[in-house]
Amino acid sequence: MERARITVFDTTLRDGEQSPGCSMNVQEKLRLAHQLDRLGVDVIEAGFPIASDGDFAAVQAIAATVGRPIIAGLARACAPDIERAWQALKGAARPRIHVFLATSDIHLKYKLRISRQQCLEQARDAVRLAKSFCEDVEFSPEDATRTDREFLCQILEAVIEAGATTVNIPDTVGYSMPAEFSELIQTIRQRVRGIEKATISAHCHNDLGLAVANSLAAMAAGARQVECTINGIGERAGNASLEEIVMAIRVRPDRYAYETGVVSEQLFSASQLLGEITGVPVQPNKAIIGRNAFAHEAGIHQDGMLKNPLTYEIMTPQSVGVPDSRLVLGKHSGRHALGLRCEQLGYHFERRELDEIYRRFVVMADQIKHVQDHHLLELIQETQGSARRIPPAHVEARPAARAAAAAVGVGREYFQKPFSVPLATDLNGSTLPLNPMAEHHCEQEDYLWGV
Ligand SMILES: [Zn+2]
Repeated sequence: MERARITVFDTTLRDGEQSPGCSMNVQEKLRLAHQLDRLGVDVIEAGFPIASDGDFAAVQAIAATVGRPIIAGLARACAPDIERAWQALKGAARPRIHVFLATSDIHLKYKLRISRQQCLEQARDAVRLAKSFCEDVEFSPEDATRTDREFLCQILEAVIEAGATTVNIPDTVGYSMPAEFSELIQTIRQRVRGIEKATISAHCHNDLGLAVANSLAAMAAGARQVECTINGIGERAGNASLEEIVMAIRVRPDRYAYETGVVSEQLFSASQLLGEITGVPVQPNKAIIGRNAFAHEAGIHQDGMLKNPLTYEIMTPQSVGVPDSRLVLGKHSGRHALGLRCEQLGYHFERRELDEIYRRFVVMADQIKHVQDHHLLELIQETQGSARRIPPAHVEARPAARAAAAAVGVGREYFQKPFSVPLATDLNGSTLPLNPMAEHHCEQEDYLWGV
């Protein structure tokens, strides 16, 4: 089966950065941009150059040092924005100017105070100006999903004629339903003259929790670019989550005949790096990269997992770069899982010994929700006597994880956060360092604009 190539447009550094508590400085943005490059995204939207000097500097620095992907900069549909964007982008090997203008009546009337005709002319002129600087121009009609369809088609026709090579359809307020969004993309393909000259893109927000579903529906209707962010960060409830879109395509090739250039094994590192930089943690049950995404607590699940991971796993933790599946030890856990964790900590017990450990473990698990490794070690020491210690080879042996950590330029504490089995020196119950959220709050900018 022929697979259509989907362009993955990452806007973590632009739309994502606009979310509360997620602003980043130039060095942090550069670090993340290099990880996005390793991740294999096609386009990095590096920022909104006119929004601040910091944003300008970040876009310029990324354009100068990250050579493989297309580097995009956002601009409102006016000359100062577009010129500023070009100044920041011109050093890029593959620059893209991304121009946007609201098109829904509610935005035209209350925000821009212009007529539809003025809107159409402004969009066309802006794209022409951008095109005079840069071959690669993207246009977004902001609030497209609440825009009159006839007018939306007219605008798209005008901007394609003016030279736009990508037309992005933003569900700016996260209002659309999958079937409806699919219909909208189909309508655009049928009605807009010259649409075959441009790539159709989807940009979905998650206000109703449908951003990924809407993005997948758009692809099925003919969109060939998706705009998304790491960990799904973004304005309000966030953008479509990059890792969820990529893995939905990868896990269900029978339903989605697409491919991306994303190296899925880099997803976890990208997620961790973003969390480390912003200090904004990922919810534990977040699909693909949450702390519990590959954790199994129920005894029957744990037993099945240990016999054959396919019993409860639709993808391996390794396929998204998580070092190991994590069996959470709680009161629902069985002997098998407990025995394995003991072995991971360097202890091997005979059946009778394990029974005694298990008996004490159940009492403990009844009192505390999750039995951590240091609890288990205390319990083992109490019961020990006849326990035989074996060298903790597999506790230490994580060369791939450590290499990955080294590759993204982060220290040991990076891999100690959610998934790793603590090393012997960390087993005294020491707490992990919390992220310095405070230094990020004061930098939050109110851009007022965005798609
Ligand atoms: Zn957006």
